[in-house]
Amino acid sequence: MRHPSEPSWGCNSRMRVLLLGPPGAGKGTQADRIAARFQLVHLATGDLLRANVADGTPLGEVAQAYLDSGELVPDEVVVAMMLERLTQPDCKRGFLLDGFPRSVAQARALDEHLAGLGAPLDAAINLEVAEEELLHRLARRGRADDNAQTIRNRLQVFAASTRPLLDYYDGRGVLFSVAAVGTVDEVSERILHAPRDITRQVPPASGQPAT
Ligand code: AMP
Repeated sequence: MRHPSEPSWGCNSRMRVLLLGPPGAGKGTQADRIAARFQLVHLATGDLLRANVADGTPLGEVAQAYLDSGELVPDEVVVAMMLERLTQPDCKRGFLLDGFPRSVAQARALDEHLAGLGAPLDAAINLEVAEEELLHRLARRGRADDNAQTIRNRLQVFAASTRPLLDYYDGRGVLFSVAAVGTVDEVSERILHAPRDITRQVPPASGQPAT
C-alpha cells in the first residue's frame, strides 16, 4: 500500500520526465537516484556522447570538438541519436532525460516524436542554482571539460540556448522549478514532490494508452 507521504511518481510507472538546469546543477546525480527508484530509463546525452567519443564512432568524432569547447553538438546530430534511443523498447516503461533537450529546436523535435507516439512529456523539472554556486561546484568536479574556459562557455551556452526552454515548457504547463541547493537528499525530496501537481495540472492526453 502506498504511504500517504509517498510522492505521486510511483502511481504512474510510465512517467516521461526531463531535468533542466545549468551545468553543475546536479542533474546527473538526481537523475540516477530517481530513475533507479522508479525504474525509469535514465538517458544522459553527455554520457552517450562521451561513450561515442571513447569508442571512436563517427558520431564521437563529430562530437569531440564540441565537448572539448563546451559548445552544443549540432541539433541534428543529437536529435538523431536521442530519438533513435527513445524508440528502443525499454523506453516504453518511462524515461528520465538528463541534458536533452538543450535548445528549442531539440525540444520541438522531442515533442513531435512523443506526439507521434501518443505519449507526451509529463514534466520538465528545472533545477535552479545561483551562478556563483555553480562555478564552485564545477571547479571542484574535475571532469575533462571542467576547465575555466570551457566552464564559462558552457554557462554562456546554457543562458543563450537552453534557458529559453524554461518558457517553452512553462507555456506547455509542464514546467516545475526546484531549488537545487542543500543536500542531495533534500533536492531529491523536492523533485519527488514536484510531480504531485502534474496530475492536477495536465489533463490526460486523448488517445493516450490507459496503461
Ligand atoms: P553534460 O554531460 O550534459 O554536461 O554535457 C557535456 C557536453 O556534451 C556539453 O557541453 C555539450 O558539448 C554536449 N551535449 C550534451 N547534451 C547535449 C545536447 N542536448 N545538445 C548538444 N550538445 C550536448
